[in-house]
Amino acid sequence: MLNWKTNYWVKPEDDFFNSTYCKRCGFNLAGGRTMSWFSTDVICLQCSNEEDTIKRNMIKRGVNPDRYEGCGPLKFAFLQYEFGED
Ligand SMILES: [Zn+2]
Repeated sequence: MLNWKTNYWVKPEDDFFNSTYCKRCGFNLAGGRTMSWFSTDVICLQCSNEEDTIKRNMIKRGVNPDRYEGCGPLKFAFLQYEFGED
């Protein structure tokens, strides 16, 4: 992804360790961080649990979550709406 400050391309793993806040909810990442399954966002463990719920609900309704790995924030917003509820 392109860093808007330096205009240099940064590797996702640089972003991974340098991020301070969850890209999705803004929570401090000091408590733990992980890479989103659905996008390149660095997210907190709570958001990761939410993604697990979405993946479980997809499987329950016959949708293979593997097909949506790295699908990006726009598609994720749809999946969140469609499969986010327990
Ligand atoms: Zn979060």
